[in-house]
Amino acid sequence: MGLANCKECGKLYVQNPAGICPDCYQQLEEQEAKVAAYLRDNQRASIGEVHEATGVPEKVILKMIKKGRIVGDIRLEYPCETCGKPISEGRVCAECGRRVLSQIKNEPRPAAKPPEPPASKAGGGLHTTFIKR
Ligand SMILES: [Zn+2]
Ligand SMILES: [Zn+2]
Repeated sequence: MGLANCKECGKLYVQNPAGICPDCYQQLEEQEAKVAAYLRDNQRASIGEVHEATGVPEKVILKMIKKGRIVGDIRLEYPCETCGKPISEGRVCAECGRRVLSQIKNEPRPAAKPPEPPASKAGGGLHTTFIKR
């Protein structure tokens, strides 16, 4: 069995599937329990609000979301992976999703712009000739 340094605290520990030492693992479990409990009563809370209320670091909350630990009606906001706008589902916001989609399609369309009409000179107006006597 190999030893490794914990990703969280740097302590040497016996490797396990979680990738962190038992101390940190336990702490993480407690943090996840706190977040889950808070979200049961505050289903529309943002990550910032959850962090304020539970003291759990935002990155831990984000990790929970990405691991699928937070599901159901809960709409937690987290940043779009492309532009950073707060979103509550998927990996990118609706705008970036559309942009990616249109990039995939990317139909090369010929410019269907009509040729510009030659600028017609306003002529033929009143032309008065004075004849001197
Ligand atoms: Zn650790
Ligand atoms: Zn975006």
